Amino acid sequence: MLLIASSSHLLGAELKTVDDFRAAAAKANSVLTVPAWEQTPKAVEAMINDAIAKANKALDQIGSQDPKKVTFKTTVVALDDLAYEAGLAANKATIVKETNTNPEMRAAAENAIKTFQDWAVGIDYREDVYKAIKAFADTHPKLSGEDEKLLNETLRDYRRAGLDLPPDQRKEIEQLRKELSKLGTDFDSNIVKANAPVIFTKADLEGLPESFFASPGIRTGDDAYTVMANVTWQFNTVEENAKSEATRKQLYVIRDTLAKETNVPVLNQMLALRNKIALWLGYKSWDDYQTEVKMAKTGANAEKYINDLVNGIQPKFESEVTELQKLKAADTKDPNAKIEVWDWRYYANQRDKQKYAVDKEALRAYFPFQKVLDGMFNIYQSIFGLKFEQIATPYKWIGDLRLYIVTDSATGEPLGMFYLDMFPREGKFNHFAQFEIISGKLLPDGKYQRPTVALLCNFSPPTADKPSLMTHQEVETLFHEFGHALHSIVTRAKYGRFAGTHVPGDFVEAPSQMLQNWVWDKKVLDTFAADYRDPSKKIPAEIIKKMNDAKLANAGVFYRRQFAFASLDLALHDPHTEDMAYDSVAISNPVLEKVFLPIDRSTTFVSYFGHLNGYDAGYYGYAWADAIAADMATVFEKARDGYLDKQAGMKLRREIYEPGDSRDVNVSVEKFLGRKQSIQPFLKKIGIGAEKKAMPARPTQKSQ
Ligand SMILES: [Zn+2]
Repeated sequence: MLLIASSSHLLGAELKTVDDFRAAAAKANSVLTVPAWEQTPKAVEAMINDAIAKANKALDQIGSQDPKKVTFKTTVVALDDLAYEAGLAANKATIVKETNTNPEMRAAAENAIKTFQDWAVGIDYREDVYKAIKAFADTHPKLSGEDEKLLNETLRDYRRAGLDLPPDQRKEIEQLRKELSKLGTDFDSNIVKANAPVIFTKADLEGLPESFFASPGIRTGDDAYTVMANVTWQFNTVEENAKSEATRKQLYVIRDTLAKETNVPVLNQMLALRNKIALWLGYKSWDDYQTEVKMAKTGANAEKYINDLVNGIQPKFESEVTELQKLKAADTKDPNAKIEVWDWRYYANQRDKQKYAVDKEALRAYFPFQKVLDGMFNIYQSIFGLKFEQIATPYKWIGDLRLYIVTDSATGEPLGMFYLDMFPREGKFNHFAQFEIISGKLLPDGKYQRPTVALLCNFSPPTADKPSLMTHQEVETLFHEFGHALHSIVTRAKYGRFAGTHVPGDFVEAPSQMLQNWVWDKKVLDTFAADYRDPSKKIPAEIIKKMNDAKLANAGVFYRRQFAFASLDLALHDPHTEDMAYDSVAISNPVLEKVFLPIDRSTTFVSYFGHLNGYDAGYYGYAWADAIAADMATVFEKARDGYLDKQAGMKLRREIYEPGDSRDVNVSVEKFLGRKQSIQPFLKKIGIGAEKKAMPARPTQKSQ
């Protein structure tokens, strides 16, 4: 209630409606759509069934045409059209599942999504459709740009599914895929099922905060405290705080041995199957297969990139470990004490408490939700040449839902819309993410469908005496997620599969990761962050510096751990002979030790590493995107107004957001940078060659 009373944004009567923007949209030959939302479980079910029936009919039409008369439009474009349209129903079902207040609606939507997914898998295997598309490709059409890319990538999808193999081999690939998918399900469920209660005495747990002992389920006897090795927050709290090395090691060994008996053999079989599938499809390895559709393009490129990063941060990693080693040496009175993998969290925590203590809770006062939102809007509107206006929301799935329209600030062209559903409630999606509802696409009638998206977040709600106050991390998340929304909304790609955030998986996070820099910069923060009780008070410079220093202090260890995971994932999916019997632990444990820290060799980290099913040969993408994000940030850092620079912002909009995947992302990144990519800015950012600087260098400004 307080939020509504305190916000002038919600005075419904004054708001324009989407209809007020239709004339401007028509002038730009585009369409704006506020989705019609189904209101009953039956309607949700019918929506998906209708969408599938319609798509099947369109598939039949492609498959049944005379192969001599096929055209670009009746084959490849028709396939993009039908996949796009069917996807709209699935997108809507996803929003219903994640937001609806009625559990029956959520259940119906969940079922609808399952039905859709089962159907979608089969599209690749429609031989009649493949033949029509192949017949068109065989005419050797002269295509260019986005059209050529669409044809090539459509053919690539079929090749990757095995459609250009002889029928018996294709059948076998399908069979292997089914087996692989079943093993993947087993792998995941073995991880979920793995649990390991470990009983400690209070003395074993010396150093832990009282709040931990008081947490539900921890105290299980007179002097018995049960820690679940599989529950991440419990594990982390012990590793960060337990003074006893024996305790830390015991819990670590148990955690890194979870699902050993069940998952090591499953993973070994999965690796063998993946390798076989890759070889049969004509690839040298599974990592080549997985990276073909990414920026990296080959497993070797991904591996080289990660190796360069591993070597690049060596001095920083070494100096951090040395600092931790000194703390351990002093603590244990053993000058030769070594930092093992169960030590780094504890000593890093001790160091941070001594040197970088920042009261994170007190910082919330500077981040009242509405001010942060307005502040972020002002920045993004200014640098990207956009205007955001709240409009009336025809249907609200929750009372405080807001709908906004985005227009180009120079031309007034409407570009799309976004919903904001910002606060938690029972049954709602419980993270922070951007969801595409309607993505951009050139429609068969020649008009452009402008996107509509939603941001689903869970910020702390307002209370009786305080507005919603965000943590700094939440502010960072908002800047990140809203970046994805802009990526979706300003798109100019013709085809659905290339529009907005439909870019390679190792790039999609980079622009948003870049935008996270904004909230670590005093100049940016000062445009909106102020104590809600006394807005003349900005965040003191020394606090911002301390926050940056704290982040930097652990960057070497943080990233080397990430690189170790990326490296072992790539090593598992390297070229191997077809009859190779895999020993996943023998491959991965030495990588962990080489890239990160000494481990206990009885452990089997990979048996509990869920990313190996789903992000297989893809974990490198996190580091890859981080390095590109740091590189991209330099365009702003070198610009006159830094992170508030309009020219740099417009360049991002034109070269990265608007094209999406309609041209090779490597090309877009180079165009944005005005040069080849480099990992140097990333290394510099984490303190290589700039040990004393927390912030990236930027030309100083005369007038300030
Ligand atoms: Zn993201």
